[in-house]
Amino acid sequence: MDRLADLDHGVNKAAGDAGVVAIVGGGWAGLAAAVELAAHGRRVILLEAAGQLGGRARSVPWDGMRIDNGQHLFIGAYRETLRLMRLLGSADSLERRALQLILPDLRLRLPRLPAPLHLAAGLLAAKGLSLTDKRLAVAFMQALRRRRFRLAHDMTAAQLLAQHGQSARLIDALWAPICVAALNTPLSEASAQVFCNVLRDSLGGDRDDSDFLFNRGEMDALFPAPAAAYITRHAGVVRLRARVDALVREQDGYCLPATDVRADRVILAVHPARLPALLARLPEMADVVGKVGAYTWQPIHTTWLRFAEAVRLPYPMLALGGGQSPWVFDRQDLAAGLLSVVVSAEGPHLALSATTLRDQHLDRLRELLGPLPALLGWKCIVERRATYACTPGLPRPEPATPLPGLYLAGDYTRGEYPATIEGAVRSGVECARLILAGK
Ligand SMILES: Cc1cc2nc3c(=O)[nH]c(=O)nc-3n(C[C@H](O)[C@H](O)[C@H](O)COP(=O)(O)OP(=O)(O)OC[C@H]3O[C@@H](n4cnc5c(N)ncnc54)[C@H](O)[C@@H]3O)c2cc1C
Repeated sequence: MDRLADLDHGVNKAAGDAGVVAIVGGGWAGLAAAVELAAHGRRVILLEAAGQLGGRARSVPWDGMRIDNGQHLFIGAYRETLRLMRLLGSADSLERRALQLILPDLRLRLPRLPAPLHLAAGLLAAKGLSLTDKRLAVAFMQALRRRRFRLAHDMTAAQLLAQHGQSARLIDALWAPICVAALNTPLSEASAQVFCNVLRDSLGGDRDDSDFLFNRGEMDALFPAPAAAYITRHAGVVRLRARVDALVREQDGYCLPATDVRADRVILAVHPARLPALLARLPEMADVVGKVGAYTWQPIHTTWLRFAEAVRLPYPMLALGGGQSPWVFDRQDLAAGLLSVVVSAEGPHLALSATTLRDQHLDRLRELLGPLPALLGWKCIVERRATYACTPGLPRPEPATPLPGLYLAGDYTRGEYPATIEGAVRSGVECARLILAGK
């Protein structure tokens, strides 16, 4: 049985109580909403279609351990995520490191100086950039800072960088790897405004905001499992394998057919691709359905490599090249000799078989690190709809909907971040606060 096996007691009683909030979806957005409500004394029932919690950031069994469905990186600016992890007692699983970007031809380290000095000092001291490129990069960040990282009109990140005279080399070595990793969207399609928001809170943020936080343990244990335990300890209910197939409006609330649940307030915290079907019987939600119905999706490929011995990396993560090249992560916290290699967004790799992609990763790792220990096992996990394509001016629905008592949570709702854990968590917390405030 799954470790997060049905924590399912008193469901019908909870469902029948006035004031119970039903949350559909047990990803990080739904869990964050449930924890925030439970922390303020509201009873919740969380319905998750899968046999486990976590959604797009979950643990997957493989080779006697539980690996992540995809490598997740956190940054110091993930304030709401960190706040909830502290509440749940799991924040210590994150290893904090000063930001470093290590690519084959670039080394950028942000020194422990006050912001924004740390950035200028880091860029000027970066190895692998010409003096001209360093000056261009500093000038670009200063120009963004002067306008508070706000653009008058959104455009693509590629257009923004061209407007600021960033060289091809600088784009390939620095800006494209950051953009693709954060927005999971190629530079030529990515929203410049969201890219600016990411730069503001990473490279341009306070020293602590820009830190990288590496999960050192199972993904389930970082948030989904402690969140579920917290919810049940606070009189809530978590029901697994509970797919909600539609939402029906009743006189004083909503009915979730196929689950026997009725509630006066419902938070839909599902992947945006699932919304149109769920909202089909609610004409008031046609605008939201129209917005998310026009989204397109971007994949993420994660290849797990298990070697016979430890493979030493100079930093817990490094890029295997410029542009859209993969990043490799040290995951020896889960098992000795374990690495994960991530390829974000769409690209030529989509035409390759998993085996060919693995061989390309291995060749590149040998070129960069020298001979590798024997490979004991490998697994490629493809998330085809890992995120929505974060394009310029993408319409993102509000958490409060036109229907009383119905809220939307997820990484796609109105917010400054691209599809990220922090975006998901913030949206869940925002829905909870709207409900707590009686809005
Ligand atoms: C491979 C990969 C790598 C990533 N890397 C990073 C990273 O490094 N840093 C970062 O910040 N973010 C990263 N992300 C993005 C991050 O994981 C997501 O933005 C976040 O997990 C989205 O959470 P969510 O709760 O909004 O949605 P989801 O995780 O999609 O949760 C929705 C939940 O609803 C459930 N559900 C769907 N339909 C129904 C239904 N009808 N009834 C009941 N339940 C239903 C689903 O099973 C799911 O559990 C990555 C994503 C992927 C896939």
